[in-house]
Amino acid sequence: MNSERRVNCAIPPYILEDLLESDDPEVRKAALNTLLTTARLRGARTVLAAFPGAATPGNGRRTVFDCRNGTDFAFAVLARSEDGPPSSDGAANRAFDALGKTREFFQRVFARNSIDGQGMRLDGYVHYDEKYNNAFWDGREMCFGDGDGIIFSDLTGSISVIAHELAHGVTEHTAGLVYRDQSGALNESISDVFGTLVEQWTLNQTADQADWLIGREVFTPMVQMDALRSLKAPGHAWERDPQPDHMSNYVHTSSDHGGVHSNSGIPNKAFYLTAAAIGGPAWEAPGMIWYESLKASNSETRFQEFADTTYQKAGDLYEVGGLQQQAVLGAWQQVGITVTGVPAGIAKEQGRLVDESSDAGQQDSVAAVARRVQALAGQVQELGNDVAMLKGRVTSAR
Ligand SMILES: [Zn+2]
Repeated sequence: MNSERRVNCAIPPYILEDLLESDDPEVRKAALNTLLTTARLRGARTVLAAFPGAATPGNGRRTVFDCRNGTDFAFAVLARSEDGPPSSDGAANRAFDALGKTREFFQRVFARNSIDGQGMRLDGYVHYDEKYNNAFWDGREMCFGDGDGIIFSDLTGSISVIAHELAHGVTEHTAGLVYRDQSGALNESISDVFGTLVEQWTLNQTADQADWLIGREVFTPMVQMDALRSLKAPGHAWERDPQPDHMSNYVHTSSDHGGVHSNSGIPNKAFYLTAAAIGGPAWEAPGMIWYESLKASNSETRFQEFADTTYQKAGDLYEVGGLQQQAVLGAWQQVGITVTGVPAGIAKEQGRLVDESSDAGQQDSVAAVARRVQALAGQVQELGNDVAMLKGRVTSAR
């Protein structure tokens, strides 16, 4: 295992940067505060890594601790354990339940014994820091802030976010996708896929009943954001959502580890399209294909190899040339990735399907131009943000 532990935060940096532009001074202040505390957390990760004990086998037993608004785990007190009664604290119970649902999902759907496949115990820490606007998984435990009540609500309220964070642990213990550029965006996407699947499984929703949103519950009504991300409609979870849903709009940036929270929109959309084409519960065939492909991947896997693997797995697990494999092939095609190693007969069949919908193809290209224009507008906005931030720094330095 890596000696350097990476902290996975639930709230991507671009959302906080966007909120620095809010018309509401309270929201701007809260966003700045969160950016500062997140930076402080990065500095503190060696302290977190030094915390003893949690990553030991324990049949996925859950324990929730109350940080009592501090940041030192040593002073946290027990709030709820596997054998104990429910807590009088709602946040502790919500965290406990979400850890349990995620554990149960991996056990029942994929026969996986907790995050590491070996019964790793699940420790949650609630009321981390004061009004802390984030939740994170540090490789051993899950921490939750209360939110400031201005931008963010209590972060124990979103099962898709909690499952997303824990899924980073599953990825760490399987493919170990490097958290940078395409492998990093794939790492993010895998977490979104399992994040929404845990929620859909909990609510017993089919692919067409689900809303495919990550973090619907995290924002207060004071901010104009519906959710953090949408797998069904990347780029549309909120007004200036920067996620592309096609390779032609891949975001080239050095920030956010090479746009890991943006470009995850591309494989996210491919998963959604696969699930929509297959129909029924998305955790069944689509989930199984993705899970087996994750296990067959390595730390350097990029979109193309992952797409090829999902195609291969769909054939291995179900039927070569069958509905599942066709769905996977078509889904990647629609996000601009052509699966390699497809036998000629199947590729031809797929080509025919695309030809028949040539009108839709034309509409797609108009949409692609529109998206490109939107992306350019986004870049201009980003420049504006940078200038505003720099100005802010000059002002605060005075
Ligand atoms: Zn993440």
